[in-house]
Amino acid sequence: MATAAELHPRFLADIYEAASECNKCSLCQAVCPTYVTNPVEWETARGRVSLIRDAIEGRIELRDIADGPLSTCLTCDNCIAACAPRVPTGLIVSRARMELHEQEGHPWGQSFAFRSILPKAGALRFLHGWHRIHQRAPGGTRKSKQTVHHQGTCCRRAARQKDREQEDKTAIHELAYLQSQYSVRRKQVPAVDRLCI
Ligand code: SF4
Ligand code: SF4
Repeated sequence: MATAAELHPRFLADIYEAASECNKCSLCQAVCPTYVTNPVEWETARGRVSLIRDAIEGRIELRDIADGPLSTCLTCDNCIAACAPRVPTGLIVSRARMELHEQEGHPWGQSFAFRSILPKAGALRFLHGWHRIHQRAPGGTRKSKQTVHHQGTCCRRAARQKDREQEDKTAIHELAYLQSQYSVRRKQVPAVDRLCI
């Protein structure tokens, strides 16, 4: 079997050596927030790094792992603290996203959002507020089956609060992902913690 030194990376040569340092010990599993919420292998640093290596070496294409392994990583680098060889998974995923966008380009809608919406904090706040108002309106999508079931009971308020918290979490994850994509497009390391809503 060829070693990392013998293989010629198709792209992302700058992070290929770092990605090859993963010894598959799995110590990163428990500290990865995405693995905790969705315990599948490709949500771990080990899984993401392994798939990116497969793409670099030509066994798969980056577009094959765009939805999931590349899109859900928060680039939080929690995994580095648990990793003996200090594999920089956040950086590796960020570079893979950049490469993917260079290979595939952006759909029109994404380009519009990157140029016209994401750079403006006011526009993001407006969209978030509009989304919440829309879902609270009669006939909106805010009411879940659980909420409807409890209508007329003392549990209704608690169910609404639970829905609201879940929607806030979803919106934060969506905006964090969009912001990370925007940072990638500008060739910056994503900084999710700068997101303010
Ligand atoms: S802790 Fe580091 S070396 Fe171990 S599997 Fe995770 S990324 Fe690979
Ligand atoms: S950087 Fe990605 S893989 Fe590592 S802990 Fe954060 S979400 Fe998980």
